[in-house]
Formats: sequence, C-alpha cells, structure tokens
Amino acid sequence: MNNLSVITKEFGDISQWMKCPPFWIAKPDMGLPLIEKLKQATARTIGRSAGGRDIIAIEYGEREEINATTDNLHSAIAAKIAPPDPTEIYPETFYGSKRRTKPVVAIQGGIHGSELTGTVATFNLCQIIETGNDLRGKPWPRLAELARNTRIVFIPWLNMDGVERWPVPNTSGAPAELHNRLTHGVLADGTPFKYPENKRCFPIPPDKVAYMGCYFNDAGVNLQYDFTSLHRQPETQAWMECYLRERPDGIVIWHCNAGSMIDTPDYYLPVGHQHTISRIGGAARSRLLREGYEIGRMSWGALPSFGKPFLTQMAATYLVCGGTPVMCELPMGAKEWFFTLDQMLDIGLITLEEILFFAHRDGLRPYELWDKVKKKLASRPE
Ligand SMILES: [Zn+2]
Repeated sequence: MNNLSVITKEFGDISQWMKCPPFWIAKPDMGLPLIEKLKQATARTIGRSAGGRDIIAIEYGEREEINATTDNLHSAIAAKIAPPDPTEIYPETFYGSKRRTKPVVAIQGGIHGSELTGTVATFNLCQIIETGNDLRGKPWPRLAELARNTRIVFIPWLNMDGVERWPVPNTSGAPAELHNRLTHGVLADGTPFKYPENKRCFPIPPDKVAYMGCYFNDAGVNLQYDFTSLHRQPETQAWMECYLRERPDGIVIWHCNAGSMIDTPDYYLPVGHQHTISRIGGAARSRLLREGYEIGRMSWGALPSFGKPFLTQMAATYLVCGGTPVMCELPMGAKEWFFTLDQMLDIGLITLEEILFFAHRDGLRPYELWDKVKKKLASRPE
C-alpha cells in the first residue's frame, strides 16, 4: 500500500521535494515539535484515524459555553414552522439563547493528505497569535489582533493516514503529474488512478493498490464523501464531535489545487450561507489581486444552480454543527502553476486575515446580526 518504488520508477529521484525550510510546517514530523512549544494553545486528541493515528485539535481563545438543549440542528429548526420565515434558522435550542461575545472559527487542514498549504499557513497563524510574527519573522499586526479576539479550533491533519503517507511536503516546483500520482495512487498492476474517475470506486480497496493515494485514509476512504456512508470512518466521527462541541460560526476547510481559492458554495446549504461564502470569496480575491496575486477563479459548473446535487464534507459540516463552511483551494505551487513557498504562505495568511475580518465585521452567520456587530454598526459615524 505504501510502495514508493512504483512512483520513483516513473518519476526518478523525488528527494528534492521532501525537505522543507523551518517555516514550512506541513507534516507531523515538523508540526508535533512546534505544537509542544506553543505556550498559549491547548492541544487535544479528538479521535484516531483508521490507521490508528491520533487526530489533534489546537485551540486558542477561551471557550464560551452556550446553553443549547439539543445536538440536532434540524429537529430544532423544524420545531417551528409558522409563520414562515426562511431567515429564522438559528433556534435557541441548538445555538443557545445567549450569543457568544467572540467569533468562533474552526480551521481544518489535510482532509486530503497531500493538500497541506493551509496547514502550513495556520501553524504560522499560531506563531502570529503568540508573537505577532509568522515563522519567518514577518509581522502581521492586523491578523494578530483579529485572531487574538477569535476562538480558534485548528485541526492540522484530519486525514492523518494520508498525511503520513505523503512523501513530498515541499510541493513548490514539483511536477503536477507527480502530485497527481501520489495523491490518487497506483493500482497493483501499475495502472495509475485518475481524478476524478477514481471517485467511482469508494472505498479504494487497500489490497488492490501498489501505492494508496494520499487522498485516502488507510481504509481507502475519501473522507470528503464519507458523511453519507452507512458505517462512517473514525475521522468523520472525530470532526463531527469536535465541531458539534464548538458549534463554530464558520469552518475554514483547506484544500489545494492551482489556487482557485474560496470554493463555490455547496448545493445543500441555505441560500444565505451560499451568498455569504460568495461574499467572502470576493473579499479574499480582491485583496489577493491588490497584493499582486493573480489567483482565484470561480467554477461556474459547480454553482448550486448549475451543478449536480451532491453532498461533500463542506455542506456536511453545516448540517452537523450549523456553521458556515468556507472551503478554500490554496495553491500547491506545482511546476506548471508555480509559486514559491514564501508566496504560498503569504496567500494563505492573507486569506485567513480576510476571513477573520469578515467574521468580526459582518459575522459568518448570515441573516443574524449579533449584538457585537450591532454595537459596531451603531458606533460607526453615518
Ligand atoms: Zn482536496
């Protein structure tokens, strides 16, 4: 299942993409020692992967209890039908009658084990919260202030099995085809799996592959679609419990590709949430363009009004915990759409800054004007 020789036979020596500079904390070998050194964070084990590896969450900011009486959002919403009001989707029995004073944002990395630019950016955010500077020593005063006033729950590697299998954490300049092969895997007879056709097979049978792609956990499951499985994977159980406990206002879900950035909203989300995600996408893209990064494209085909009605982990997080899922495809910097590691880290941190600004200014919950937002609006000069 982990036979790298089928990869090196095709691509030759891949060792140049295995080593990372100290600020590029992508995998547990560099990440776990950093977590040990964090002074203001609380690290918890929230579950165990199919392969028996610990899944960790790192928390910043005090947890504000809410007085919810049920864990089932949909039962709570259905408890009142009339008068009809599509904006009345924050039942007190689920969200609590007392709103929290600070935004709560969950940040999730590595559901696909080869997509770790966001994990790197968020480890740098941890350093910014603690010192004001990222791991290169670059100051981020606005981001530091926003993050210090937010409760953050960061899962660096949701798919620990795939992450541990991922051999080339320094993706800058690596051929896209190498990335594809390692991400999607190779069958025992040497046939490579191709994206997205490999989604026809769920799960990928571990005994039929020479190299299990890092997309998948050790049971061959793409966790992106596990929510609808009859018997869910332990990683899915872990995020469900973690997010339900937090009931975050929003969940930043990191993926990686050429850098198409904030994704189109999923089909199975309330309209207000879809609109909010598009607004955040616009804000992040405008900022990146102003900073000179020509990335961020909208895929019309995936829009709810054009696309097929399928469910991904993104909408599933809303269905479970009631937070707005903001899925972001950061660049991985392949040779064909090159970015340096420095550029990719800046893109990730700028994106986080825009999302956190939105969380503070407008709030990640559409329709709902929190007290704190109302107060800010009231104190603003006309
Ligand atoms: Zn992905």
